[in-house]
Amino acid sequence: MFYIGCHLSCAKGYLLMVKEAEKIGATAFQFFTRNPRGGNAKALDDADLEAFLRNKEELGIGPLVAHAPYTLNGCSADESVRDFAWRTMREDLERLGKIRMVAESNGLTPAEIYYNFHPGSHVKQGTEVGIRLISEMLNGILTPDHTTTVLLETMAGKGSEVGGTFEELREIIDRVELSDKIGVCLDTCHVWDGGYDIVNDLDGVLNEFDRVIGLDRLKAIHLNDSLNLRGAKKDRHAKIGEGQIGLEAMIRMINHPALKDLPFCLETPNELDGYAKEIALLRSKRR
Ligand code: FE
Ligand code: FE
Ligand code: ZN
Repeated sequence: MFYIGCHLSCAKGYLLMVKEAEKIGATAFQFFTRNPRGGNAKALDDADLEAFLRNKEELGIGPLVAHAPYTLNGCSADESVRDFAWRTMREDLERLGKIRMVAESNGLTPAEIYYNFHPGSHVKQGTEVGIRLISEMLNGILTPDHTTTVLLETMAGKGSEVGGTFEELREIIDRVELSDKIGVCLDTCHVWDGGYDIVNDLDGVLNEFDRVIGLDRLKAIHLNDSLNLRGAKKDRHAKIGEGQIGLEAMIRMINHPALKDLPFCLETPNELDGYAKEIALLRSKRR
């Protein structure tokens, strides 16, 4: 199965999100758990969730990838920002656990549910402090009964971002007690901007990922082209084939044996019709 989709909004309900996915030919998708700039989440509606899960299963839509708000920063120097991060992540994981409960009580299988987040920005405290604070947050929140796998997203290394190298992600994972609940989401624009040559040496980059983190931790791909040159540390996404990574490299990634079964989520600068075109294009290039 080729799990490919894009970022969708659950602001008008979960069922509508799956209807949108169907319209644009998506077999996977990602959604923000709440307003990406922060704020409170709307209460979940059981009937909406049940209809969502039923439709999702009928359409053969794969893993669910939830994305934490961009404002979630567990390694901020500001204690109130760290508090927000802890509260938000704890509440989001409860909500995602509820989706699984609704599925199970209706005899449905929700496939995997992932919660992807940006590790954070240490803001002048240094990477070591950043890594410590992020792992402390995960240790403070994760419990053995959590059913959601938390994904650390590979970052471009812009400013004081933590997670711009595979080694930094590995250091976080090493400090998490319940590390079987931690995975990684590889963002193609971010690793490219971080300096990894996925265009000329995809095998080399994946071997490096395997050596440092382990490919068994890799659970999802954000498939984005980049406006900037490799190593630019800028993090500006481009449409598929319209950036510095290019279509040929994208085609190699969606067909690579180590990646091809993972969910691919587009985060390209598009509206729904643009996403539909990119999904169709990539589908036509899938071997
Ligand atoms: Fe992200
Ligand atoms: Fe991303
Ligand atoms: Zn990005």
